[in-house]
Amino acid sequence: PELFVTESQDKFSNEYEITKELGKGAFSKVYQCLDKLTGNTCAVKMITKKELSQEMLTSTNKLQEIQVLKTLDHPNILKVFQIFEDKKYFYIVMEFCAGGELFNKITSKGHFSERETAHIIYQLLSAVTYCHSKNIIHRDLKPENILLEEVNGELTIKVADFGSSVFFSKNKIKGCFGSVYYIAPEVLENSYNELCDEWSCGVILYILLSGKPPFGGKSEAEILHNIKYGIVMTEGPHFSRISEGAKDLIKKLVERDTSKRLTAQEALSHNWLQSYRSLEFPST
Ligand code: ADP
Ligand code: MG
Repeated sequence: PELFVTESQDKFSNEYEITKELGKGAFSKVYQCLDKLTGNTCAVKMITKKELSQEMLTSTNKLQEIQVLKTLDHPNILKVFQIFEDKKYFYIVMEFCAGGELFNKITSKGHFSERETAHIIYQLLSAVTYCHSKNIIHRDLKPENILLEEVNGELTIKVADFGSSVFFSKNKIKGCFGSVYYIAPEVLENSYNELCDEWSCGVILYILLSGKPPFGGKSEAEILHNIKYGIVMTEGPHFSRISEGAKDLIKKLVERDTSKRLTAQEALSHNWLQSYRSLEFPST
């Protein structure tokens, strides 16, 4: 879709009506809204201009998140319909995901079957492969930022929240972004490349199968220590019924040595994922 920016003050409220709050972050609020003309339900992320940090802007003072979203068009990435801007806010109008966050689904289900997990992770790795091909790192992949849509019993994931994303070149990236549990060890060392997203995918894979994170702890400091120095345990009661193939993919993504870590593209051809490709995917 053609994205365009309008600067007039009431443009957003002329075209859309806010119906309820969906989420709230440090710099933004997300609402469900109604397209007055078509009657379609959408979502809008309103980003407060006042609180923007330098890291959220590009070198030409544009909002990084919007510049990234304009570059992306993929079935597993949240689609943006329209962008508005007034004195106070940026408005990102996007498709509404009725299924909510993957996070809530994990909380209510405990964990997923291997088949369901393979279906979700395949879509996630497709989105990450695509982003990296466009030189974009997400940097905050986690179940809260993965939204769900269920159509005719088929579950589709949509990667959301490009608020921490960045364009990369051959140079290593600096700047500590991400969330505890999912952050890659090299990000904590402040010198990394796009493979930090693959680490997060591995952590998500681990959680979907076992219902618990690979690196836990009683405090943030303890979790981060474990990310840096701990080993990934794929034994014990949570893994008693998990196949060797699934464990192999976890270990190749949650791999500290980035020169050995699988890229998202390589992970897509992993035997364990491929073995589920031929099957019809279940709904959850
Ligand atoms: P933040 O940068 O504040 O984390 P997000 O873009 O992650 O903002 O949105 C915050 C939350 O709002 C999400 O975790 C999700 O629960 C909800 N949300 C965001 N976009 C949508 C959408 N398109 N459809 C449904 N819920 C959404
Ligand atoms: Mg978020």
